[in-house]
Amino acid sequence: MIRIGILDLQGDVSEHFQIAQKALENLKVEYQVLNVRNAEDAALCDGIIISGGESTVIGKLMVETGIKDIIINNEIPVFGTCAGMVLLATKTDYQQPLLRLMDMKVKRNAFGRQKDSFEQEIEILGEKYTGVFIRAPAVDEVGDKAQIISKIDDIIIGVKQGKNMALAFHPELTEDTRLHEYFIKEVL
Ligand code: GLN
Repeated sequence: MIRIGILDLQGDVSEHFQIAQKALENLKVEYQVLNVRNAEDAALCDGIIISGGESTVIGKLMVETGIKDIIINNEIPVFGTCAGMVLLATKTDYQQPLLRLMDMKVKRNAFGRQKDSFEQEIEILGEKYTGVFIRAPAVDEVGDKAQIISKIDDIIIGVKQGKNMALAFHPELTEDTRLHEYFIKEVL
């Protein structure tokens, strides 16, 4: 039985919940998808997904609930999209609580404001995807331990480190389950 948790503190949680379920069905494994609202929920998870939303709010609540400590102490793999990418970074251009699990420096709102949202075809590890960018971050620098998996021109938008994966865009807002399957396979 594999347990995938969707961090449920703020943000587009239900979209991740649904797509994680679809991805797990496709992988034909015995699974449970659970909403993670407190430290006890987090402790049950084999992997946790952090949605888009407001990383300052999610980060603060992760500290207050004790979820941050559980993720770090239990070394739970994390897949973060958009705000989730920000939270995985070691550093951002803003003072805020972070998980600091990935050796990268992230710039928030790197592509502008909400009205500058856009969709673009992108490539990750040789496969094409639709990237939905909404007040998206970008990665300014990666350290030795992190692997760049996607770029738009020179701008880094996808990074992997061990089982952790951070994407600047929102695969959960498409019907495409491949990136969720990719993360889940790492966790299996
Ligand atoms: N700009 C937001 C942040 O830094 C992320 C936006 C999003 O998740 N769509 O928290």
